Amino acid sequence: MKRNLAMVILLLLFFSLTQAGIQTPDEFLGFPLGADRQLADYHQIIQYLKHLEASSPKLELLHLGKTTDNNDLFLAVISSEKNISQLEMYRKISNKLAHPSSVNPSEAEELIKQGKLIAFITCNIHSTEIGASQMAIEFAYELITRTDPEINFYLDNIILLLMPSANPDGQIMVTEWYRKWIGTQHEGGRMPWLYHRYVGHDTNRDFFMLNQKETKLINKVMSQDWFPQAHLDEHQMGSRGPRMFVPPFKDPMSENLSPILMRLEALYGSNMSFRLEEKGMAGVIDSWAYDSYWPGGTRTAAWKNIVSLLTEMASCNVATPIYIDEVELSGGRKGLVDYKQQINFPNPWQGGWWRLRDIIEYELVASYAFLETSAKFREDILRSFYKMNIEAINKGKQESPYAYILPTEQHDPITAAKLVEILLEHRIEVYKIQQEMIIEGCIYPEESIVIPLAQPLRSFIKEMMEPQTFPEVRLSSDGEPLYPYDVTAWSLPIQMGVTYEKINQPFNAEMQRLLYPPYPEGKFTGTSQYGYAISRRFNNTSIAINQMLKANAKVFVTSFKFNDSETQFEAGTIIIPSAKGLTSELVTIAKELHLTIHPLEQPLPEGLKEIKPIRLGLYKPWQASMDEGWTRWLLEQFEFNLTSVDNDFIKNGDLNKKLDVLIIADIDKQTIINPRPKRSSAAKFYRPLPEKYEGGIEKEGVTNIKEFVKSGGTLITLNDGCMFPIDEFPLPVINVVENSNRSEYNAPGVMIKMNVDTEHPIGWGMPETTAAFVSRSPVFVTAQSYGDVSRTVVARYPDEPLLLSGWIKGEKLLHRKAAIVDLKFGKGKVILIGFRVQHRAQPHGTFKLLFNSIHNHDLN
Ligand SMILES: [Zn+2]
Repeated sequence: MKRNLAMVILLLLFFSLTQAGIQTPDEFLGFPLGADRQLADYHQIIQYLKHLEASSPKLELLHLGKTTDNNDLFLAVISSEKNISQLEMYRKISNKLAHPSSVNPSEAEELIKQGKLIAFITCNIHSTEIGASQMAIEFAYELITRTDPEINFYLDNIILLLMPSANPDGQIMVTEWYRKWIGTQHEGGRMPWLYHRYVGHDTNRDFFMLNQKETKLINKVMSQDWFPQAHLDEHQMGSRGPRMFVPPFKDPMSENLSPILMRLEALYGSNMSFRLEEKGMAGVIDSWAYDSYWPGGTRTAAWKNIVSLLTEMASCNVATPIYIDEVELSGGRKGLVDYKQQINFPNPWQGGWWRLRDIIEYELVASYAFLETSAKFREDILRSFYKMNIEAINKGKQESPYAYILPTEQHDPITAAKLVEILLEHRIEVYKIQQEMIIEGCIYPEESIVIPLAQPLRSFIKEMMEPQTFPEVRLSSDGEPLYPYDVTAWSLPIQMGVTYEKINQPFNAEMQRLLYPPYPEGKFTGTSQYGYAISRRFNNTSIAINQMLKANAKVFVTSFKFNDSETQFEAGTIIIPSAKGLTSELVTIAKELHLTIHPLEQPLPEGLKEIKPIRLGLYKPWQASMDEGWTRWLLEQFEFNLTSVDNDFIKNGDLNKKLDVLIIADIDKQTIINPRPKRSSAAKFYRPLPEKYEGGIEKEGVTNIKEFVKSGGTLITLNDGCMFPIDEFPLPVINVVENSNRSEYNAPGVMIKMNVDTEHPIGWGMPETTAAFVSRSPVFVTAQSYGDVSRTVVARYPDEPLLLSGWIKGEKLLHRKAAIVDLKFGKGKVILIGFRVQHRAQPHGTFKLLFNSIHNHDLN
């Protein structure tokens, strides 16, 4: 009620004052922006930007689309009045410089002189890092109201794209949660759920795969609509180190990045640190912590020849000020081991109060410096942008590889088409050959997909298509290599199970550019009095199973090979017996899922097994888990019906009455059982959640899950989640790397060769060899079992070189060890999947192992 009244007053103020002129953010909000314990939520931010739009010809607010939770994602375009009236023309110039194959150097010079620098700022992609969402409206206000020569110069030369929050859903959640607890001991504390419906912090790890709506919309701004030359993403970090990070970044760097781009990033960063220092703002660091190797965050832009910058501010507790004593300050990441003066950190901050307003002040200076560099170096940057793009095209014509080919013969052609869909969304040119082509003795049939490298995004294409080799950079000759910031492997074909070839010589082919992904046409080839068969090779077959079960159709599976007239079917093939009304259902499934559905010419073979509807639960801890969120997202995409299962659900028992299958994602067993740390410094710094959300499943939960399995339930555990049943049931399985230190075993996100038993129900439809995404993963040795426990190894790491992409230490520890173990335990089973089978919904090549584990519930 109070809030409604406040809204009415705000609206009245809004209408009475718009005519009088432009309100300041403080006037509009009714409190000083950045004041302690005060936040503008996303709705207020957009209301204010609408006010600015209505009051000034220098700002245009664009509605980009809907977010995951159906909020509106907005982008403010800010420039001089004259530029705003000609946005379309400048967008076209930017597009031409981004795609310069038909632009000759003198035309390019003309475009560079004429063009404006498109500068893109995104704020608050991580929702608790809320300062920038507040800063954005003050920045916008100043830019459109200041009329001094400095601002006029910026706005004449730049078109600024300003996104006040890259994840509005989370911004709203965080402000609501924060306001709720003001004045209590939970003020400024964590939320018990992710600040995005599915992926939380991983909103910024999705920029090549483009799974989430927000990522797709931001990618569209970059790759399809505006082609900015510079991008700045404003973040926050922990509280106890430097006050602010600005570029340049720290080693290692990807070999595919353009050298001039690295220099431009340093130029922008140096101007930021100069302007901050000039104003006496202490604690600014560069060349620290964040590398130039991993393309998963917004820095994917760098592989598209866009200057791609990141700033990180020390956080306070959301909007609550904190006091930091100097004894609490620490270094500890690459580039600053000890918290003391260094060349990249010449003015350490000495401790004291730290508040939201400080964050806004530093960010304003950095944002202005971003505009200053963009405006002063406008022509140089536009020229570099053009040159990087044209050089990429030329290199692609002169250097091997000249192209990648996806042959028509694919294990799962639907997933191969998905890979092309991702490339198209990044605006990569992809072609289909129209005639058989013979290159280097290989025959590529008509319809094979060609991705030529002679195009502006050559760096990005190479980064996505080839295996990664991690560049080991050492700070001393006997030192350890610098540790990667995130994972070390992302090669799309390897993780999606798609076959590709490199073309190492110039080639000529009749090709047609693809405007849409080449999904196979689904085929329903005729009716049968007996039934229909669908191959298990396609990931989409799992959706078909779920749709048929929802439509109450009978779904069977064959556990053996069989022949139907001329056609041979593999073990795992889905069989749907003929029934009334089934045909139209199957026609739709074939069409929408791109599947081929075979009518059987002979009676159904004997001994088929039935897949029954499954009551599926996914454990959701109150210590929010991104892997839980990704699992939920992926299972929803593949149309599994699932229940989120919290601690109370498990503690209340009777699980078999409610569930058939329970999944525990990559969550460590302490978080599951009782997340309060018991020992070490973590226990000292632990901050409890509100009582309702504290604790885990506790002892009774462990007993209940064990009872659930003993009485016939299936428990599926992923990666580190496997240690929960191994230790607590316990199971006759050892994790051989459990006690290894980082110099013995280190796999920070790497693709590893794995063999799969394709005769086992979990391996049905899989190729015999695939890539497992291994990241801080357990490695299993099983033991002789006895009593009512028995084990089958479903997937294993062979005794040969294993590394397919990325960086691993202690690879030998994996040789001849188990990756997936299926254990019978009482009447039920535990399926241990000891790697990241669905990591960030990227490894399409192994999704099926998870889906099969679920559908396998009642089968053996
Ligand atoms: Zn962040």
